[in-house]
Amino acid sequence: MPSRILIKEIINKIGEKVVLSGWVDVRRDHGKIIFLDLRDMSGKVQMVVTPKDEETYKIATTLRPEWVVEIEGLVSARPEKMKNPELATGGVEMQVGKIKVLAEAETPPIDVSGDGYDIGEDTRLQYRYVDLKRARLQKNLRNRHKATKLMRDFLAESGFVEIETPILTKSTPEGARDYIVPSRLHLGTFYALPQSPQQYKQLLMAAGFERYFQMARCFRDEDTRGDRQPEFTQMDLEMSFVDMDAVMSLNEKMVINMIKEAYPNKKIQEIPFPRLSYKEVMNKYGTDRPDLRKDINDPDLLAFCWVVDFPFFSALGGEKTETGGWTFTHNPFSAPKPEFMDDLMEKRDIGSIITTQYDVALNGYEIGGGSIRNHKPEALKKVFEILGYSEDRIEKNFGHMLQAFKYGTPPHGGIAFGLDRLIMLLEGEGSIREVMAFPKTGDGRDFMMSAPSEVEKEQLIELGIKIEKSE
Ligand code: ASP
Repeated sequence: MPSRILIKEIINKIGEKVVLSGWVDVRRDHGKIIFLDLRDMSGKVQMVVTPKDEETYKIATTLRPEWVVEIEGLVSARPEKMKNPELATGGVEMQVGKIKVLAEAETPPIDVSGDGYDIGEDTRLQYRYVDLKRARLQKNLRNRHKATKLMRDFLAESGFVEIETPILTKSTPEGARDYIVPSRLHLGTFYALPQSPQQYKQLLMAAGFERYFQMARCFRDEDTRGDRQPEFTQMDLEMSFVDMDAVMSLNEKMVINMIKEAYPNKKIQEIPFPRLSYKEVMNKYGTDRPDLRKDINDPDLLAFCWVVDFPFFSALGGEKTETGGWTFTHNPFSAPKPEFMDDLMEKRDIGSIITTQYDVALNGYEIGGGSIRNHKPEALKKVFEILGYSEDRIEKNFGHMLQAFKYGTPPHGGIAFGLDRLIMLLEGEGSIREVMAFPKTGDGRDFMMSAPSEVEKEQLIELGIKIEKSE
C-alpha cells in the first residue's frame, strides 16, 4: 500500500491511488451509494463508496461518526456541478477502494460539528478531548501556535535567548495570593509557584544574558473574578541597557509583525501605538485600559495603546501617611522615572512619584505591562521601606536580589504579555478559556481530571500535614 498522505494534499493527486487516515465526520447513504466525509488535521474530503466491492461496501455501512479509519482509493475530479467551493478539497472526491477500521467510537457525549457556544461549559470541559475536535477550537489552538512561533522567531532574531525559570520557587509579589507546595524533604516548609518569573528574569540580567524571553506559565490564586485562570501564560521578556522607549518600540514591532503574518485580515488602527498618560486616560475614559476603536462594530479593528506615567505608590485603604500605609500600584521592582529618583531616595512626596511602568491595552483590555527596574540595590531597598517592610522581611524575601545587584547589574527593563488574552482578542473570542487547551472552570476546577482533589492519607502524613476542616 502507498504511504498515508494528508487530505489537503489530494487536490494535486487526481487520477492517483492514495491512502488517507482520519476520522469519519459524517456518513450519508444515498440509495446504494454511501458518501463519507473523512477528516484529518489538514481538512476534510468527500468519499464515495459503491456496492461494486462487496466487502468494502459492507464495512462502509457500519461506519459511524468519529470512527478512525484508513482508506485507500482513487482521487477523481468532481463533475462541475458537484464541486463544493466551501471546501478546500471541494473540487475532488475519492472513490473508495479499501477501508480499514483502526478504532471504533461510541457516540460522542457532545456534538462537535457546530461552534459549541450553546453547550454547557462544564460538559465541554469534562469532555475537553472531544470538545477540542471542534473546528473552532482546532483553529484557535493552531493559530495560537502560529502567533507564538512568530513572536519567538522575532525575539530569537533580535538576540533574545529563551530560558526556563523554576516553577517550584519562592513567593514573588504580583499582587495576588501564592499557590504553595509543601516540601516532603524539608517538613513544614513550602515552595510557592511563581506569579511571574519577575525575579528570575532580573537575575538573568544580573548574570549578563542581556536579552531573555520565555513563554512562562504563571500561577495566581485569586478569588473567582471575571475571566481569570489560576494558571496562565505570559510572553515574558527582559532586556539590559534599555530605556522605556526601547522596550516599548521593540515589543510594538514584535506584535505588529506577528499580526501582519498570522492575522492578515486585521487592521491596526494606529501605528505607532498612541502613548497616553495615566492621568489623561483616567480623565478622558475613566479607565486605564481604554477602548480606542473608532468603530466598535468592526470585528477586525485593533486599537492598541500604551499607558504610561502611573503613580508608583497608592495609599492602602485610602489613608496617606509618610511612614507606611503605601502599596505599589504595579510592580515593586520598577524604577521611578529618573526625575523622581531623588524623591524615592529621600522618601519624599511619595504619592507623587511616577513609575516607569508601561501598560499596553487593546480594545479595552489590558494585554501586557512592564517597566524599567531599580537596578541599584539602594533604590530597590527604598521601595520596600516605603512599603513598610521590616529590615528582617526585606532581607528574608529580597536579600538575594539586593545581593545580586551588588555584583555589577546593568540597567534593565522588560515586559510581559498575557498571551491567552492577546490570542483571545485576535480570535474574536469572549473568554480566554476558548484559546487554552485544558482550561479550568471559572472557580478553578478541572472536571476532566477531577482536580483539585483529596490525596491519600499516607501522602499527608509524609508531608506532615493535617487537614482541619473548619465548620
Ligand atoms: N512581572 C510583570 C507582570 O507579571 C511583568 C513585568 O513587569 O515584566 O505583570
